[in-house]
Order: sequence, then structure tokens, then C-alpha cells
Amino acid sequence: MRVFKFGGASVKDAAGVRNMAEVLRQFATDDLLVVVSAMGKTTNALEAVVWAYSEGRDTKELMEALRRSHLSVLAEVAPDDVAAAAELVLHFDKLNAYLKGKPSGNVDREYDQIVSYGELWSTLIVSAHLKHAGLANTWLDARTIVRTDSSYRAAKVEWTACENLAERYLKPLLSEKPTRVVTQGFIGRTADGLTTTLGREGSDFSAAIFAYLLEAVSVTIWKDVPGMFNADPKLFPDTKMLSHISYREAIELSYFGASVIHPRTLQPLQKKHIPLYVRSFMDLNAAGSTIDDRSENDSLIPSFIVKPKQLLISITPHDLSFIVEENLSGIFWLFAQRNVRIDLMQNSAVAFSVVVDDSPRSRELIEELRKGYEVRFNDSCELITVRHFDDATLTKLTAGKEVLIEQRSRSTARFVVK
Ligand code: ASP
Ligand code: MG
Repeated sequence: MRVFKFGGASVKDAAGVRNMAEVLRQFATDDLLVVVSAMGKTTNALEAVVWAYSEGRDTKELMEALRRSHLSVLAEVAPDDVAAAAELVLHFDKLNAYLKGKPSGNVDREYDQIVSYGELWSTLIVSAHLKHAGLANTWLDARTIVRTDSSYRAAKVEWTACENLAERYLKPLLSEKPTRVVTQGFIGRTADGLTTTLGREGSDFSAAIFAYLLEAVSVTIWKDVPGMFNADPKLFPDTKMLSHISYREAIELSYFGASVIHPRTLQPLQKKHIPLYVRSFMDLNAAGSTIDDRSENDSLIPSFIVKPKQLLISITPHDLSFIVEENLSGIFWLFAQRNVRIDLMQNSAVAFSVVVDDSPRSRELIEELRKGYEVRFNDSCELITVRHFDDATLTKLTAGKEVLIEQRSRSTARFVVK
């Protein structure tokens, strides 16, 4: 069994969906589980629906636009599939009915109930088109298998429950040969039956979850870039492709913000020694990147990642008492409770500084912290991480910028700059 993942960019329109079928045709005799994200920018559009709904604004126009675009893609890629069209309409009706209800005030929970539709719609369309193109397949509701806790918008996977659910509901689908299952990335379900999401860009992680559960031979993430690079080729000239790196190296790079792979994707794969391939859906002849157990090819060329829109927050006890374990555990608890990820931290005697993404959640957290501490912050910072750094790369990346924090370990240098 191979697991494939297609992101939003790969299925952004009818041409994308058709192209995806062409990719699958190359693997016509292989057993495949195909994980698909929401189409194009659908998740962003659904976020707008969430904000409108929770603020009591009208969602009709936003929803109409989504419905029109999805139905029109379906009509293009599976013109005679009346059943699929009815199914798609049903999903839109369900969401519209949900949006008629009163918001509860638990925005994160509602976010997941609403935003998860993007993946349901896209997979219905993909599944219908594959059938239309002669690629028989089974549509699977990922929530049947991916059991999570109720940390909405950043749900944690309950692995043992998933294993049991896979045994009952996924394994029976594998008797069909070749197996071709189409399912959603990003979404899961609590034991109480509420929908959850795994965090933005979480579909890669979903692919890894399914690969783990099925002990797949490999995972392939199909992207609009030909592989993993030592820096974002969209931002920097002269980037080099990393054709083979270890899980460890890839985890470091994705943790620090390389957006090619979602950071949590690699751990489940590493546990079962499942290789990950990153390949281009636009160029099937390109070899792509391989990520696996072997580290002997780990490139020692500098790899760098620049995360924009960072907040540098400094937290100081009002009485200038030392930053010690007691205040740190309280501070960390607030971050964990609000699901704000700390990208870098540093402390002095009386101040604890952290770098986080600038988001509404981080801003709320600052207000919360202000109840107990003096809090100052700097916005519009960049967090630069360089693996296998050399002087030339560091000079190039920090030139003309004010360095607010600098940290170096043996293989990684990190800067907060403005
Ligand atoms: N559709 C979700 C997002 O845009 C998940 C994903 O694409 O991986 O974040
Ligand atoms: Mg994506």
C-alpha cells in the first residue's frame, strides 16, 4: 500500500483534478490510499465564513461563492454523475443548516465543524472524477478512522483508538484490488462524534497517520515544487534541491518553518521506517526528494528558513522576581492552553522572551499574560533559522537588519531580526 497526498494547490480547479487523475493513472495497478486537501484557497474562504458566523454577520454570499465554484468544477470533471452532484449539494445544505444555528461562543469548536467541509467537498469531487476517468475508488470519511481529543483546531491523535478503528473500518476496504481509497486530510473526530481539525496544513500529517495505520510502503506528497530545497525557491535565488535527507534533518527543517512538510508528519513515519517522497505533480519525470532513515547523504550545505510576521514577547514579573520554574510553568501552561506555539525562547534573570506567530490567538495571550506580568512585544519580526550555517550565509541573511536575538548551537543558528 502506498499513501499519496495531494494538497490544495494540486486540486485548485478542474484542470488540477484532471491532472491528479493522470498522476494516479501512472500507478493504476498499485494499492493506493489518497489523501486530499480542500481545493485551492477553500480553507481560507471557510475561515471567513467562521468569522462571519461567530460575529453574527451574514454568511450567505460567502457560502454561495463556494457552492458555485465547487459545483462548477464537479460539472466539468464528472459531467454525468448525478449522484455525486446530489451528494455535494447535500453537504452544502448541511453546512448551511448549521450556519442557521446560533453561535455558541466556542469559536474553535465551530471552526472545526465548518472548515472541515472543504475536504469533504474536494474529496467528493476527486472521487467522482476518478470514477469518470475509469479509476474505480472508494470514498472514505477520514473521521471514521482519525480519532482525536477535543483540542479544536489543533487536535491530538489518539493512536490506539485509531488502530482499532482502522482494523474495523479501513482494513475491510483493502480487499478490493487494486485498492484505491480517496479520503480527506486535516480532519478527525472526537469520541463524542464532533469534527476536529489537525491544524492548518495538517493534511500531510493525515497522510502519515494513514501510512502508519496501514504500515504503508511509502508516502508521497505531490507538490507544485519538485522536492525539498535548502531554502524556499519562491523567495531565494540559487536554491539547491535536497535529493535525499534523513527524518532527523527533515524534522529539524520543518519544525523551524520549512513549509514543504508539516512538522508532525515525520514522527509516525520514522516509527515505522516508512520513507517519504516529495514529488512534483507537474513533472512526473522529476525524481523528487526522499526522506528516510539513512543520514549518510545528509547535505551539509546551509539550509535556511525565514519565518515572517513573528512577535517577540518579553515577559517580566511585576516585582522583578527571578524567572524560575514556578513562573515558567505558569507561563508555559498559558501558551499550551491557548495553543500558541513557541518558536524560540530565551531568558535572563528577570525576563523571559519568546517568539511566536503573530495571530489573534497570540494577541489574546498577551492580554492574558498582562494580568500577571509586565509584557512588552515587538511585532513584524522575522525568525531566521540556518542549519549547517557558514559565515557567508549568516551575513547574507542578516545584512541591513537589526538583530534582536541570536542563538547558535553546533549545527543551527537562529536570529530574530527586524
Ligand atoms: N486544507 C487545510 C489547510 O489549508 C489542510 C491542508 O491543506 O493541509 O490548511
Ligand atoms: Mg496545503
